[in-house]
Amino acid sequence: MTELERIRHSAAHVLATAILKIWPEAQFAAGPPVETGFYYDLELPHRISPEDFARIEEEMKREVKANHVFERVEISRSDALAMAERGELASLATRGIPSKFKLDIVQNIPEDEVITLYRNGEFTDLCAGPHVLRTGNIGAFKLTHVASAYYKGDERNPQLQRIYGTAFKNKTAMEEYFTMLEEAKKRDHRKIGAEMGLYAIDSEFVGPGMPLWLPKGTVLVEELEKLAKESEFAGGYVRVRSPHLAKEKMYKTSGHLPYYAESMFPPMEMDEHREERAKIQGRMAELERLLTPQG
Ligand SMILES: [Zn+2]
Repeated sequence: MTELERIRHSAAHVLATAILKIWPEAQFAAGPPVETGFYYDLELPHRISPEDFARIEEEMKREVKANHVFERVEISRSDALAMAERGELASLATRGIPSKFKLDIVQNIPEDEVITLYRNGEFTDLCAGPHVLRTGNIGAFKLTHVASAYYKGDERNPQLQRIYGTAFKNKTAMEEYFTMLEEAKKRDHRKIGAEMGLYAIDSEFVGPGMPLWLPKGTVLVEELEKLAKESEFAGGYVRVRSPHLAKEKMYKTSGHLPYYAESMFPPMEMDEHREERAKIQGRMAELERLLTPQG
């Protein structure tokens, strides 16, 4: 784990600490660092929204300021299970109900693996680490958004709230990151493409990531295709064609399915959802009529 990942994962523990100070009944699942920051999945009757962020960040600031040590504790499997039963994992104290997700996680740790806890202040979590030395090492942090996620990514499991945030070594690094995001937004191809009249994106009729090329954009696409064909021909390549649709296995092999299933390319279900499909086909026909030049 890199230093930045340690900072971010430590911020996830501080986030959980803060949430428990406000909502002691919260049940936590996993809280890893991710490319742009960190998240923690939790179950809580109160639906956390960005309006709650200031209050949560206030509690987080207190934990960071207190500069608690991240203390690593090795425990036996039976102790870990007992603690989970008493609701003491991802928790500030003994609770009346088990820490159910942590209990499930402990039960799935391989027999030969060492089980560790990490403590910061009053908060104890089941965690393999590593962490920064102290909460004060989290130089700057910010909560960014909330999403929902199924426990272990399986839709048969309970749906959890996923709170995202980001953290950096210091304020300057964090400011640079948010400035970069703002600048990237201005250069977003979806914004520029629409402004230039190259394509339209219609989430309702077609789907995100699927441009409808307008006349100007179509010229560009065709010029690029021409250039590609000429370059390939000059390089001695010959072309083949494959169908746009294939079996799920192909998209697993290509790597698309695990990364884009949620946002862009969910697998098609051929026999289920017949009604929905008919509705979508109806809408597509309507759209086609709209796009056909009149008179
Ligand atoms: Zn941890």
